[in-house]
Amino acid sequence: MTPVNKADKLSPDASEKGDLSMPAKVDMDKIVSLCKRRGLIFPSSEIYGGLASCWDYGPMGVELKRNVRDVWWKSIVHERADVVGLDTSIMMHPGVWTASGHIDSFTDPLVECKSCHLRWRADAVEGKGCPKCGGELTEPRMFNLMFKTSMGPVEEEASTVYLRPETAQGIFVNFDNVITTSRKKLPLGIAQIGKSFRNEITPGNFIFRTREFEHMELEYFVKPGTDEEWLDYWVKERFDWYVKLGIRKENLRLRQHGKDELAHYARDCYDVEYLFPMGWSELEGIANRGDFDLIQHAKHSGRELSYYDAEAGEKYVPYVIEPSAGVDRSLLAFLVDAYDEEEVGGEKRTVLHLHRSLAPIKVAVLPLSRNEKLTPLAKEVFNKLCPNFVTDYDDSQSIGRRYRRQDEIGTPFCVTIDFESLEDKQVTIRERDSLAQIRVPVEELGKILEAKLKGEAFDASPLWATREK
Ligand SMILES: [Zn+2]
Repeated sequence: MTPVNKADKLSPDASEKGDLSMPAKVDMDKIVSLCKRRGLIFPSSEIYGGLASCWDYGPMGVELKRNVRDVWWKSIVHERADVVGLDTSIMMHPGVWTASGHIDSFTDPLVECKSCHLRWRADAVEGKGCPKCGGELTEPRMFNLMFKTSMGPVEEEASTVYLRPETAQGIFVNFDNVITTSRKKLPLGIAQIGKSFRNEITPGNFIFRTREFEHMELEYFVKPGTDEEWLDYWVKERFDWYVKLGIRKENLRLRQHGKDELAHYARDCYDVEYLFPMGWSELEGIANRGDFDLIQHAKHSGRELSYYDAEAGEKYVPYVIEPSAGVDRSLLAFLVDAYDEEEVGGEKRTVLHLHRSLAPIKVAVLPLSRNEKLTPLAKEVFNKLCPNFVTDYDDSQSIGRRYRRQDEIGTPFCVTIDFESLEDKQVTIRERDSLAQIRVPVEELGKILEAKLKGEAFDASPLWATREK
């Protein structure tokens, strides 16, 4: 079994056929197609025919992805006094991976078909033959999931380095640096967001499992003996985070790892699972890693890695609680949960009910038509808003078509400038989910949008609001 990679405790095939006791409400093809159509996510190197399981984030996707990172960082680092951030290098001293156990045991058993030469994860193959052609399979051999490359101009053993398979080790090896320079007391968390790489045998399900992905990891160091309550605390925190960002509770569940599936370093572990289109699958793992990592790195580096508690006058090696999530995987869950198709005025509308903080575009400025009389005021409104909110300007096609385009990428508010606006200096704000519209003075527009984006209710009382027809 792989030691570190909780995400792969279940073989992809086993986990992704998943538990389909509850059918998902949208299939993955619809999500993939929306992502392509609206510039969220493209297949990588598409003009060359693509590269397996690699994806590029387009103009809307890059905004969405930044927002996922930012809301995580804000809730984990900025809104807490007991967590600091870190950004470590992707390539690290090879000794790191010996100490962490990745060189020896970050492996999957691999078998190859002797006729068609397709490779399979041995534990995902049922029966004796190749699942594709029925051909004879080789004996399993252990396949290391780390990407190997060479540092420096001469390709020799001494210069072999790995692309990190997780960001956590960069945190452990900097434990002492952070403790001595931050002057913080335990419990203390160190958080990092960055790219990780795993040479998965069977990636798939769009951006769910890819060989290059982005990790959001927190290593929360605590006094031994308090670790179990901190694990409970973080399991709840992390579960609630998804709910706060709009994921429906019934599409989330917690699963505690059985003793037989715990990685060797882990004392306990929970998965937050989400009902993806392919079934219930892991969204995030929260593990109690004990003192395994600090002890291993102390042993292999020769440097002492412990904490002196001045108040208690004692020295100990902290335990660590690790909530480990993926940017891409969270983003997929947010997309799937936000996706909706409904009928408005006899026409189909596809809408992403994304949380305001996640929406790629916050406000779209839409002049009623591309009319030279409307353009100056519309541009003025755009220029006023764009320093404060990610704002789009669109004056092509009919207003209805433009509303639909904004709905598809989850824009919470559209601001419409019409001929009346020229007279009364008022514009219409239209809200994505309720389709309610209110008219407000241009002067107050920025202030009102700011309040609405922070969560103030959109007052759609019928006396002064209308609903888009
Ligand atoms: Zn075969």
